[in-house]
Amino acid sequence: MQPFKVSKRTRTIEYAIRDIIGFAKNLEKQGKKILYLNIGDPVKYDFDTPAYIKKALCDAVNSGANWYATSEGERDLREAICEKEKRVNGVDITPEDVVVTAGVSEAIQMTMAAIVENGDEVIMPGPTYPPYMSYTLFYEGKPVFYRTIEAEGWRPDIDDIRKKISKKTRAIVIINPNNPAGALYDEKTVKAILNIAAEHGLLVLSDEIYDRIVYERKFVSTSYIAKDTPVVGLNGFSKAYLMTGWRLGYLYFHDSTGQLKELKECVQKETRIRLSSTTPVQKAGITALRGPQDHIKEMVNQLRQRRDYTVKRLCEINGITCTKPEGAFYVFPRILKIGSKWKNDMEFVLDVLNNTGVLLVPGTGFGEAYGKGHVRIVFCADMETLEKSMNSLEAFMKNK
Ligand code: PLP
Repeated sequence: MQPFKVSKRTRTIEYAIRDIIGFAKNLEKQGKKILYLNIGDPVKYDFDTPAYIKKALCDAVNSGANWYATSEGERDLREAICEKEKRVNGVDITPEDVVVTAGVSEAIQMTMAAIVENGDEVIMPGPTYPPYMSYTLFYEGKPVFYRTIEAEGWRPDIDDIRKKISKKTRAIVIINPNNPAGALYDEKTVKAILNIAAEHGLLVLSDEIYDRIVYERKFVSTSYIAKDTPVVGLNGFSKAYLMTGWRLGYLYFHDSTGQLKELKECVQKETRIRLSSTTPVQKAGITALRGPQDHIKEMVNQLRQRRDYTVKRLCEINGITCTKPEGAFYVFPRILKIGSKWKNDMEFVLDVLNNTGVLLVPGTGFGEAYGKGHVRIVFCADMETLEKSMNSLEAFMKNK
């Protein structure tokens, strides 16, 4: 029988971070112990959702908050989001500017659906968080990567952003702090990107999901310094509130000039197609934002220790170079012999996996041009797992 025909747009979807897991699961079935350093989910390691947030979810369910929420998100949550954005990031927005989504992932999809058409270009950091690339392609657009400078902590190359703009460019994506490189952009860099966007009438999409996970310097929100340049801010509860599996995020329109009026209406229409995001989780989200925030400081302290350890060990291994991430929980080292000893980063990752059981993500999954020759390592794991993984990686590299 003929196989049922599927659309090209779904056939070509790739998501390196999850696609690689199949190889590890096969080895696991054969009895090999896998050390998973590939998923950016702290709850999969030894971090847990704070008790006060879990209780709020149970209370919401038990008190009957189980109806469909309003499509753009419950108003009390949108108010709490505005308070948080003001308190933490100094950003002035109203509940009417906010749309609640099933994670930042859905916010990315909705924004791309509303701005990208056949052949439109979206400029994004290279390396990038894969859904920016995938959703641009899904809506028949073209991802265009701007260089980020590895030797300078993966800072965006402003001249390269200028060079990448064409008549087809629709938006510039900022991911700050960045996944997969762990870069934290300073105010000057963000301002320079905003200036380019203003000059060319482009939208800025600013993914700030790691805004609370920074180690030395303070994070500066794009909208805080944007003045009249329109920004769509994206943020969520997965990382800072350890609610990854609950799927709650938001986007907001920071738009003093009213240029985003139609975009906002279209995104709001999109929210109606999928009815609403989860009501009891939204209620818990309010408690998360207004409750004690102590767990964030504790988590960042633990992550700092894990980052310092991982970076130190990586830098001591011959054949690996690595810059120190200043935010998020990823490090993106360069493997010097990819291209000679190993054909590409996928081959390296599979060799490491087969020989040591340590699972990493190939850099190419974050965009070939700037990701190749690298791997992404998540340093959320407990110290014992990190130590075992680094010992194995060091021994593996010694034999190469
Ligand atoms: N944006 C970035 C930069 C991320 O790293 C991630 C997850 O790793 C997401 C968005 C997705 O977040 P959410 O769980 O809110 O969908």
